[in-house]
Amino acid sequence: MGLDLAGVAAWLADFADQVHTNVDLLTDLDRQIGDADHGSNMDRGMQKVAQLDQSDFASPAEMLKKAGMTLVSTVGGASGPLYGTFFLRLAGAWPALDDAAGLGAALRAGLDGIQSRGKAILGDKTMVDALVPAVEAYDKAASEGVASALRAAVEACAAGRDATIPLVARKGRASYLGERSAGHQDPGATSLTMLLEAANRTLV
Ligand code: ADP
Ligand code: MG
Repeated sequence: MGLDLAGVAAWLADFADQVHTNVDLLTDLDRQIGDADHGSNMDRGMQKVAQLDQSDFASPAEMLKKAGMTLVSTVGGASGPLYGTFFLRLAGAWPALDDAAGLGAALRAGLDGIQSRGKAILGDKTMVDALVPAVEAYDKAASEGVASALRAAVEACAAGRDATIPLVARKGRASYLGERSAGHQDPGATSLTMLLEAANRTLV
């Protein structure tokens, strides 16, 4: 579909569908190491985002900005401001049509936003553990075009998500559990992987 307004609208709608379908999975993961609200938090926000009408926006960046503001104001918890910041930064860096390097730069801007807001680094058992390898893999494959780069990003993202299982959490609510947080997959890394999977289905 490409990186135009229709592509971005399809991406957001696909992610909203994925979150809705997997609301119990995300909540169950958060029950293990948090407060059992990641599914309902994200579903509430993304259902609002899914109601946005692409014809109300003049550009993909405008729609991404509105999505970010909607998430900040409706999701709450740690993930609302973090996902909101991701989309706001993405909006600020969104490229002209079908520019693979530009999409990589936008994803990196989103990651930088999450890290400046949440202060998590690789290995803290958060969504950052999925997004850092995804952005790195994207950049490595960017010269092959958006489709190849997103495919590589999804694979790395899922591996990063799975790699959160043995980690001890050092950020967010899960960190209150200390060593007992080990052995569970991070909910935010799980939803983040759904976001990249949705991008891989809609933006190419
Ligand atoms: P809360 O923890 O406030 O209940 P959610 O349950 O919606 O919020 O989201 C939890 C997820 O947020 C975690 O699984 C983790 O991936 C992510 N998270 C929490 N704190 C941070 C942080 N400082 N930086 C990055 N991600 C974080
Ligand atoms: Mg929670």
